[in-house]
Amino acid sequence: MPTTVNAFGAHEAGKPLTAVAVERRDVGPHDVRLDILYCGVCHSDINFAGGAFGPLPVSPLVPGHEIVGRVTETGSGVTRHRVGDLVGIGCMVNSCRACENCKAGQEQYCLKGHTLVFGSPDPAEPGAHTQGGYSEAIVAPEDFVVRVPESLDPAAAAPLLCAGITVYAPLRRFGARPGTRVAVVGLGGLGHLGVKMAKAMGADVTVLSRSGDKREAALALGADHYAVTGDGSAFTELADTFDIILNTVSAPVSLPDHLGMLRLHGTMVNAGVTTEPMPVDVLTLCQNGRSYAGSLFGGIAETQEMLDFAAVHGVGADIELIAARDINTAYERILASDVRYRFVVDGATFADPKA
Ligand code: ZN
Ligand code: ZN
Repeated sequence: MPTTVNAFGAHEAGKPLTAVAVERRDVGPHDVRLDILYCGVCHSDINFAGGAFGPLPVSPLVPGHEIVGRVTETGSGVTRHRVGDLVGIGCMVNSCRACENCKAGQEQYCLKGHTLVFGSPDPAEPGAHTQGGYSEAIVAPEDFVVRVPESLDPAAAAPLLCAGITVYAPLRRFGARPGTRVAVVGLGGLGHLGVKMAKAMGADVTVLSRSGDKREAALALGADHYAVTGDGSAFTELADTFDIILNTVSAPVSLPDHLGMLRLHGTMVNAGVTTEPMPVDVLTLCQNGRSYAGSLFGGIAETQEMLDFAAVHGVGADIELIAARDINTAYERILASDVRYRFVVDGATFADPKA
């Protein structure tokens, strides 16, 4: 028998989220069920619930893709997790597992399309859509559930499942390590973890921000340097400086200005996503043999690697813990950039969201 669980979701795009009930399927042979302890609030949740990606695929739609919980039930064929384990679920809960990209451990780039943790048709339950982490409990295939080291604070670990892997994967791919100069553009949910991860990898880290407002906060997070880009002078002063520029901003930035700050064979990588065009100046790109790249969260194996790395280096998000009833206010504050640096919902508050 499927179970009904309390959740928080949107009935209509752009309307406030309310208490809802959703069905969780029976635990199949390769599924695990977990009680959700914490779920982070990511800007993508707001985009989906707000209709930025089109009408809601299902109503109600329960967002939430930064999930930490404890396993309460395992299917008969499950080998990766046991009842009582602290585990996490991020952006996706399935993929084809057979294409070139899946076989390379890059399921986020599945050529058949991955199954998002919410709002995707669910291959495990024909006719149903997945529902996310603003909920008491969830059922998911064991292969898309990762182990959360017990030494991590589970609330601060939740945002690692999307924001953390989204910055970790490109920093690793482009070789952040001692001696590497990394610039992080933007200091929000992604950017603050970009600073922490790059520092933990041993890099020399500069935060680039339009104003001087975030200087103290950036240095407190461990950044070595801070540069203001609003008046344009930093682009000249820091020309030919960085090995990696990690752009976490979800709006267009000037590529000619930023690419010019890359030193020999440096790479600027977009971890933030915008649907607006960002014209490339090819001459600047060719100078120094520069690259411009993109990155979309991360594969399951590297998500596990990221969590293990975070545990070794004590990396977690700076969070503000909220109750389910505060989600709509949290959305407004995120849109006003009024959060340092991630809201996380206490899973215990989904049971009675009015409390
Ligand atoms: Zn996200
Ligand atoms: Zn695939």
